[in-house]
Amino acid sequence: MKKLIDMLEQRRDEMIAIRRHLHQHPELSFQEEKTATYIANFYQGKPVDIETNVGNGYGIITTIQGGKPGKTVALRADFDALPIQEETDVPFKSKNDGVMHACGHDAHTAYLLVLADCLIQLKSDLAGTIKIIHQHAEETPPGGAKSIIEAGYLDDVDAIFGIHILPIAPAGTVGYRSEHAFSGRSYFKLKLKARGGHGSSPHKANDAIVAGAHFVTTIQTIVSRRLDPLETGVVTIGSFDGKGTSNIIKDTIEIEGDIRYYNYQTEAMIREELERIVNGIEVTFGVNCELMYEIGYPPLYNDPELTAFVADTLTKLDDNDIKEVMEVPKMAPSEDFAYYTEKIPGSYFFIGCSPKGVDQPYFNHHPKFDIDEDALLVAAKSVGYVVTNYLS
Ligand code: MN
Repeated sequence: MKKLIDMLEQRRDEMIAIRRHLHQHPELSFQEEKTATYIANFYQGKPVDIETNVGNGYGIITTIQGGKPGKTVALRADFDALPIQEETDVPFKSKNDGVMHACGHDAHTAYLLVLADCLIQLKSDLAGTIKIIHQHAEETPPGGAKSIIEAGYLDDVDAIFGIHILPIAPAGTVGYRSEHAFSGRSYFKLKLKARGGHGSSPHKANDAIVAGAHFVTTIQTIVSRRLDPLETGVVTIGSFDGKGTSNIIKDTIEIEGDIRYYNYQTEAMIREELERIVNGIEVTFGVNCELMYEIGYPPLYNDPELTAFVADTLTKLDDNDIKEVMEVPKMAPSEDFAYYTEKIPGSYFFIGCSPKGVDQPYFNHHPKFDIDEDALLVAAKSVGYVVTNYLS
């Protein structure tokens, strides 16, 4: 382990250089062709198995076979960017118009490439197998994770670890959360068909907007009146498409919404209530409703034993770069890492990256999102300690 940590410290600047290169050349989910080529080229000539075009996109998996038999562990980093116009002033600003690494997946990929290379050099000392999952398309459902699992890549894996950099604390802080850490998300679309008519004669028509307005108001009672107050759920209407003209009664409208939850009981309750209210709107207003409902990503569940193992491993260290290890609260975002931990035990933890001297850092997905690059070495070391400890 000492050797690994020394190697990582020596390659700190290289991680930063890789991160900056990726940051300058961001690509959207399912279009990350050049990023995938860059990653594949990094492994060129190294004594490791590499598979490209994994799953439903440009995923890359490298398998590091240790010198001794042992467990199989997977490490995952995502590499897609977002449809955001970058507004930072960094010298390595995005060169691709309207596309930005605003979630830090550039940093995830940079630390994992260097860590993987160090592990390859030390592989004769390792007991077991390490699968490095460079995952495409995290940001856009259906995402890449599910397809990688369906292709069987996790079938022989005992545990999986991953990290996300978040500006919840300065670089040097590691956050962990047992059980549910990130929310699950669903998406729905309601097409409500009534009967259009003249604005002067509502009795001869059937107003889609009035029925839709009742729907929007009524679903506000799902969380306030149906959800156990100790549970968490969100129902948000993000779009109400009823644009028309002042004197015409609207025939058809479309409403779209977003649902968040931390467990499948809450998800099922919200979905059933939604369906019941839609049926009620049909009866009450004599309209016709088509409800489309889809689960985007499941809630992210961290295995309690593995998460305790991560916290324990990192707390007992004497390492100047890992200054604080703390439990963090549940957080609202969703993540397709959740699919991996539905399949096998895993732990997804968090690396503080707030830029130095900034009181209120911009959060991930903001056009001014920026990180303290010291977080790269913290990520590499943390995952390095966890994986070597797990295999030993
Ligand atoms: Mn992300």
